[in-house]
Amino acid sequence: MSEKIVYMDYASSSRVDPRVVEVMLPYLRELFGNPSSQHSASSKMKNALEEARAKVAGLINAEKPSEVVFTSGATESTNMALRGVAFRNRDRGNHIIASKIEHISVLNTLKYLSKNGFEVTYLPVDKYGTVDVEALKTTITDKTILVTVGYANNEVGTIQPIREIAEIAHSKKAYLHTDATPAVGKISVDVVKDGIDLMTISSWDMCGPYGIGGIYVKRGIRVEPLILGGGQEGGLRSGTENVAGAVGMGRAAELAKVEMASDAERLSKIRDRIVERVLKEIPYSFLNGHPTRRLPHNANIRFSFVEGESLVLSLDMEGIMLSSGSACSSKTLEPSHVLIAMGIPHVEAQGSLLISLGRFNVPEDAERIADVLPRIIKGLRQMSPIAPEEVR
Ligand code: PMP
Repeated sequence: MSEKIVYMDYASSSRVDPRVVEVMLPYLRELFGNPSSQHSASSKMKNALEEARAKVAGLINAEKPSEVVFTSGATESTNMALRGVAFRNRDRGNHIIASKIEHISVLNTLKYLSKNGFEVTYLPVDKYGTVDVEALKTTITDKTILVTVGYANNEVGTIQPIREIAEIAHSKKAYLHTDATPAVGKISVDVVKDGIDLMTISSWDMCGPYGIGGIYVKRGIRVEPLILGGGQEGGLRSGTENVAGAVGMGRAAELAKVEMASDAERLSKIRDRIVERVLKEIPYSFLNGHPTRRLPHNANIRFSFVEGESLVLSLDMEGIMLSSGSACSSKTLEPSHVLIAMGIPHVEAQGSLLISLGRFNVPEDAERIADVLPRIIKGLRQMSPIAPEEVR
């Protein structure tokens, strides 16, 4: 296999942008010092940390940089938001509302909370994966303290009506948390305009380093810290700060702010080309998710009479890497809970392919995958006991 590798699995891991690595290197090689110390080595580190914070805050239009808290990543941020809000606001109620299609880091945190005295209601979604706003209106009560709905779905790309959801949450004085991991740096996210109270932000999903992430906590929101110690990060996340990581994440945010619109335009063209060719050239193939209100770099395509895992392995043999669903949930062999919630039958859901593009994809990648898919799908259908004669 001499052709170059085509990587289309940015939802499960992104390459760190070399421009990000560049600004981190001095902090890994020669610069050090604890941002909380009194000497000049430390003030350099403190300045770098605060500059990075301002860049992340700038990307999401936070009013104050101090509303951004650095964590170890999206999973920790979500844990802080859900557990932190739940335990700190117990006096106001014990009811939490989420959608059925949340990421596993949200769902498992909610499972934990429901074993610890909280009641969780899960909202349905329609066939496109859009959260049922009317159901939110009827389930929210004065005991609801938190509504958590992802900004855009990491598997099917559907963008949620977050502002409307925030308005409904606020009408009952509940907070709105959104896991914006797949959205920040890809589409414009404005925490003020959208009425967001807490938001999970990933670093690596926007080509920043791993091992760092962030959470936006609007000023005045009551959150209990999960990690206790020296009181760093405004007391919300103790532990000596990861300055190199923060500098990298800040640079990634700065690059995303400048390049987001052009990246979105470029990637959506590659994505549209793949979808157009695949749906035209392969019978019984369907686009999962919303046809227009979706992330620019995402496509999720379902092939009847095909098993997703075999499809992924066959593509891998052609040098094309992608996943059949969220890598975070792939340890279970169950079909995607997102597709099931959208009403797609089990066997159909298992034949889905998640195409998630990123900064380093080029237009030729679309032709590479569209060229090989018809042959692979045909081969797999020939082995399927349920495929009708006309597709074999
Ligand atoms: N939330 C969503 C929506 C995700 O897609 C991911 C993974 N990309 C995460 C949370 C978890 O991110 P991490 O594993 O970096 O904590």
